[in-house]
Amino acid sequence: KANRKFHPDDTVVTLPNGLQIGGEKLALIAGPCSVESEAQITEVAKRVQHAGAQFLRGGAFKPRTSPYAFQGLKAQGLDLLNAAKKETGLPIVTELMSVRQIDLFLQAGVDIIQVGARNMQNFDLLRELGHLQTPILLKRGLSATIEELLMSAEYIMAGGNSNVILCERGIRTYETYTRNTLDISAVPILKKISHLPVVVDPSHAGGIAWLVEPLAMAAVAAGADGLIIEVHNNPPKALSDGAQSLTPDQFDHVAGRIREIAPFF
Ligand code: PEP
Ligand code: MN
Repeated sequence: KANRKFHPDDTVVTLPNGLQIGGEKLALIAGPCSVESEAQITEVAKRVQHAGAQFLRGGAFKPRTSPYAFQGLKAQGLDLLNAAKKETGLPIVTELMSVRQIDLFLQAGVDIIQVGARNMQNFDLLRELGHLQTPILLKRGLSATIEELLMSAEYIMAGGNSNVILCERGIRTYETYTRNTLDISAVPILKKISHLPVVVDPSHAGGIAWLVEPLAMAAVAAGADGLIIEVHNNPPKALSDGAQSLTPDQFDHVAGRIREIAPFF
C-alpha cells in the first residue's frame, strides 16, 4: 500500500482544518522536545508560529534512554499542548509510546500521532494505529533500513489508515561527531519508491543546534515535504534535548533561510 508502483500519485495528508503535509507547501513542524509547563509551550508555540511553523510539536510521553531521566508530563502534557493549540490554532504533533495511550490521545484530540524511532517496529502498536484515521508521523528506527521503515508504514496502512507520514531522523553509524547520521539519500529514495510524504528531523539527526540549519537546507534541497525541528525558549535549561534545540530567534533565522529555497506561506 505504501508502494508507488500501485499508487503513482503523491499522497497528501490533510488535516480537518485543511492544513496539508505532502502538498505544494513545505510543512514546518516546530516546538520543544518535551512539554515542560504551560508558559513554556505557549511561548514556544507563539514564537514558532510567528516564524512560519504551521504545526506544534511537543513530547508529553518521552522515551528516555535512562529510566531516571525526565519521562514527560504525560496526560498533563497533552492538556498543555491543547492550551497552546487554543491560543495559536496550531495543530499538535506528539509521540505515543504504547497501545494503552491510544484512547487518551483520541480524547485529547491529538492531530498527528508520532511513532518514535524506538517504536518503529512495535508491530502491535502499528497495527492498532492502523485502525485509526488520525495521521501518523512514523520515525525511522535507530538502525532501520529504508525497507524496514516502509514495512512499518505498511503495518499501519494494512489496517486501513493511509494517513502515514515518513520521517528520516538520522541513523546509527560509526560516526560519533553527530548524534546520528542524517541519511539524506533516504529522502529521494523514499519519494521514488513510495507515495507517502517525507519529513526530515534535522534536530535528532545532528544532535547539535548549529547543525540544524545546514541539515534542514539539505533536506529541503533533497525534496523533503516538511521539517520537524526542536525549539526551546531556554535550551540550556531544557529537560530533554537542549543541545540540539534552537532558540526561537535561531528558529526564525532558519525558517528565513528555508523560505529562500521553499516557500511555505
Ligand atoms: C523526539 O521527537 O523527541 C524523539 C524522541 O525522536 P526520535 O524518536 O526520533 O528519537
Ligand atoms: Mn527530542
